[in-house]
Amino acid sequence: MLPVGPIRSKLVAGENEMIDARTELYGVIGNPVHHSLSPAIHNRAFKQLGWNAVYLAFEVKDLEEAMKGIRGLGVKGVSVTIPFKTEIVPLLDKVEGLARKIGAVNTIVNQGGKLIGYNTDSDGALRALEGKMNLRGRKIVLLGAGGAARAIGFGLKEKDCHLIIVNRSKKRGESLSRGLGCDYLPLSSLDKMKAEELEADVIINATSLGMYPRGGETPIPKGLLKKGMTVMDVVYQPLWTRLLREAKERGCVTVNGLEMLVRQAAAQFEIWTGRRLEVGQIKKDLLRTLRGEPTKPRSVGLKEGKG
Ligand code: NDP
Repeated sequence: MLPVGPIRSKLVAGENEMIDARTELYGVIGNPVHHSLSPAIHNRAFKQLGWNAVYLAFEVKDLEEAMKGIRGLGVKGVSVTIPFKTEIVPLLDKVEGLARKIGAVNTIVNQGGKLIGYNTDSDGALRALEGKMNLRGRKIVLLGAGGAARAIGFGLKEKDCHLIIVNRSKKRGESLSRGLGCDYLPLSSLDKMKAEELEADVIINATSLGMYPRGGETPIPKGLLKKGMTVMDVVYQPLWTRLLREAKERGCVTVNGLEMLVRQAAAQFEIWTGRRLEVGQIKKDLLRTLRGEPTKPRSVGLKEGKG
């Protein structure tokens, strides 16, 4: 992931931390976005860095009009979320290699008026898993064929993983499995499967099954989860989904959706600013935010990035 250079304006030491005529604008576009945790992450990070920038959430109805606004107002960087990650691709000036393969963009940088698209969901998910294991060559069952699954699937392919795509809709499932050169199984087939028939080192739920308010749902029968497997859920509301609770009960290693969320946000911040966030501190702050507790004002950890 290449940082594309530092943002320009910085608050001078001693200057009031307030919005002024030089404040740079960042934001997230999506619909809905009122639940987004991204403003909390990025505004804390800008504040910690003393950067004169603000990050807002924009609930967008018409994407093409929103893009005109981004160009016209010189918005410096944008996160893209549901439902625009795919639709936005042809509206950009350039799309970076992996994002092009995935066919989805979740990060935009405004480089002197040119809008460049990246995908950090892939990086976020892989780094979250790599915190627990070496991924190279692993057998992985990837549940889902939407934007998140595509990002994770193409990232895992670069690690030479052996993938199986499992999805409810055959059309989307087969299309992704063709793109990845791997097998597809219908989601319904898992109900009839015996534990010994499912060979996997890792199971990843990249569907929205189990997400609030339908937290009682799970994509995979508990009996298929085996001790020693690693089970990751991209859903982070609730944090401990039924899938992860059952995986824990079966002796699996678990990775929750917040681990991916904070890493994809850190990768975005690095693309925009060249600075790397300390994911441990963002995680602590977000857990407080999710619990409705106040966070300490200057608690986001920052390190100098490589670039
Ligand atoms: P998409 O709408 O692109 O894809 C949704 C996927 O979920 C599809 O595979 C769809 O299957 C499946 N699905 C939805 N409802 C059901 C159901 N009732 N039964 C079976 N399958 C179902 O969404 P995204 O891929 O963008 O997002 C998926 C999840 O990932 C969301 O919960 C999102 O919040 C989360 N996410 C988390 C991130 C993180 O950082 N932790 C980052 C990005 C996303 P079908 O093809 O059959 O419709």
